[in-house]
Formats: sequence, structure tokens, C-alpha cells
Amino acid sequence: MMTKNPKTNFLTGKKFPFCPGCGHGISINALNKALQELNYGPNDVIVVSDIGCSGLIDPLFATHTIHGLHGRSPALGLGVAMGVAQKQNKKVIAFIGDGGATIGLQHILEAARRNVDMTLIVLNNLLYGMTGGQISGLSTQKFKEIIDFEKDVPPFDLIQLAHASGARLAVRVNAPNKIKDTLKKAIETEGFSIVEAASLCPSYGMKRMNELMEVVEHENILEHKRPATKIIDRETNSLLEQANIIEPKYDAGLKERKGILIAGSAGGGAQSVARFLAMAGMYAGLETTMKGEYPITVGTGFSVAEVIFDHQPINYTGLDKPDYFVIVTEDGLNKIKSKLHKDAKIYIDDKLVTDELKSEFPDLMAVPFGKMANRKSTALAAVTYVLNKEKILPVETLKEAVSTHRLKDIFVDVINKVVES
Ligand code: SF4
Repeated sequence: MMTKNPKTNFLTGKKFPFCPGCGHGISINALNKALQELNYGPNDVIVVSDIGCSGLIDPLFATHTIHGLHGRSPALGLGVAMGVAQKQNKKVIAFIGDGGATIGLQHILEAARRNVDMTLIVLNNLLYGMTGGQISGLSTQKFKEIIDFEKDVPPFDLIQLAHASGARLAVRVNAPNKIKDTLKKAIETEGFSIVEAASLCPSYGMKRMNELMEVVEHENILEHKRPATKIIDRETNSLLEQANIIEPKYDAGLKERKGILIAGSAGGGAQSVARFLAMAGMYAGLETTMKGEYPITVGTGFSVAEVIFDHQPINYTGLDKPDYFVIVTEDGLNKIKSKLHKDAKIYIDDKLVTDELKSEFPDLMAVPFGKMANRKSTALAAVTYVLNKEKILPVETLKEAVSTHRLKDIFVDVINKVVES
């Protein structure tokens, strides 16, 4: 790992973007020195950051850098350490603020539990600096007394938490002149190490120096003897190799791009049928896309799916103006009613047709879909009916598609009955 060059500067020389006197600069300079003294080279280090004032550091470092979402630098760093870093023998050093540590606490505990080789530096200024000085989960009680908010709620003790989760080394350090040596010890530790460094925010926290000192009084160092977790490099097959290749077997009747919208209810098979339909398009040598929409509570309410066929590549899967509507349930109708338009061919279960709907869309085709198959196969029966009537694709392509399913005999039977009726 080590590139022997103690004069290496790990900083790009860019002006620090922080407010005058911000404590973050102390930790950044300390890390630069620590890496120099440990004889690392810039290419040996991957600096990970996220959001907040502490997230402004990546342009400052001349190492590899990665920037992620708020509170996620421990998770991002862990992923990099498990993947790239261990194979290429690089050291991951992630930064996070106390606000980010509050948001991403679970990620810190997870990284500590896994004990993969990386160092997390928590710049603790007791507040969210970038958004105006709000309290964080690490704000002390004295700090909160000043703003008279949640003063009886104690802060998380991140060092205790990380230690209890299995971190090889967990340290709280406060005196600026101790940060460099603490970082050296953490970086040299094989396994997960966390360093919480007190970092004054003059813009919002100057009056709170005493409260920061409260943290200073609680310097702590906790260690486990457990060795760093080694990542086992497992061979996995490429997902592309596992994909089913569908070879075209039929000629599509289609002349130009067509979009079909299937509107049904949860459990009615709309999503499965849309997938079969997309596969059917591939058996006909077409480009196809499929997009589903249903509520978070997947077992109730509407289930809507859109399928597009084209001879040209489809770069956008959205279907603003479907050419065909296949509506099998009231849930589905209610969901897509606003999308109905007069240029489309609307096939709808006859029980759903109202006078109002009929007067607005006089050309709609009312079909007794509900009588063609049981509830779970109504969407398949309806799509078969429309495919057969409109000659969009040969029905044989749909049979090919359903034959990949364990219920293929039932599905083929439904298709045959609709075609023969
Ligand atoms: S707001 Fe506070 S933490 Fe952010 S740069 Fe300014 S002094 Fe530093």
C-alpha cells in the first residue's frame, strides 16, 4: 500500500471553503500530515464524503474521492472497502458530520459490526452547520439548554455505540494537537475505526464553546481485539449470462409504434400479462418496454401496466397517449380515466360501462371480459381478445410467452378459449 514519499501533499491546494475559524480545517490538515507520516501516496487513499459542511472536502483532497448522499458516507465507504479497496490494497477514509452521523447512524453501526478495514472521521460541531445551526443527535444537553429545546434528551454516545457494535477502534478526540496522532492510530488499525473529533463551528457554535468542552471532557478510546473481516471474493455469474435470450420466431403485424395500457386490480394478473405481452413482442422481433404502477400496499387497489412495441429502439418507457386501453376492473378504470382519449381504441369490461362513459367515448368496445375467465386470468383473456382482434401481434407469440410460466397449461387454455369463442 505504501508509497514512500513523506513530502507528498494529499491536499490539492484549493482554498478551504469553510467559514473563518471553522474547526473542520484542523482535522483536514491533521489527516494530510497523518498520511504523510504513514508514508501513504495519494493513490493509496480513497476519501469518501457526504452532505453538509464536512461534505465540502472532496475537492480539497488529491486522493481518489467519492461523494454520496447525506448520512451515507459510512455505507458508501464500506461498499468501496469491500469491493475495490481490499482488492487493490487501498485505504478508505470517510468523513461525516454529526448531523450526517445522526441521519446515517445505522450505517455507522453496520460498518462497525462488519469491521471491514476503513476509517470514519466524524467532525462533531454539535449542530447542522450548513442548514443554520439546528441540533443533531450528538448535541449535548448543555448545548440544548441554550436554545431550550429537548434539553432533557441525552445525546448519542457514538463511540460507545460503535464499540458495542464491534468497531475495532472507537476514539473521541478533542484537543486539536491530538487529532493527527489519533488519526494515525486509526488508519493503521486493521478493521473499522471511528474517530470523533470536536470541531468548532464559529458561525453557529461560538457561543457554545463551553458545550463543546463538555465533549472534550469525554475523550474516550475503546478497542476490540477482533481482526478485520476479510472479504471472500465469490465468483458470481453475470446477470446478462443468466438472462433468457428470446429469439424472434414470428412476423409482427405491427406497422408503427403502438402503446397498450392494461388497467386492472391487485391480484388480477395485469403485471404478469404485461410481462407476457412484452415477451410476445420480442418473439415477434420487436423492441418492447413494460412499465407497471400499483399502490405501495401491493395486495389492494389498482394495478396498471403499460407496454410499448416498436421496430425502432424505445428510449422513453412512458406512455402519454396509449393507442389501446384494456380495462378489466373498476379500480383500473378509476385510476386511468383521466388518460382516456377519443383517438384510442378502448376495450372495457361491459359491466363497467356507464351512460356517461358511453356518451363521452361512443366508440368504446364493451366486452364481457369477466365471463371469459376466472378473476386471476381476466387480464390475460382481455389482452388475448384485443391482440386477436387488432392483429397487433400473432396470438402465437403470447402462447410462447406464457409457456415459460409454471401455470402455462392453464394460461394456454385461457388463450385458446378466447381465440375460439
Ligand atoms: S457553518 Fe460552521 S461548520 Fe459550516 S463551514 Fe461555517 S463554521 Fe464550519
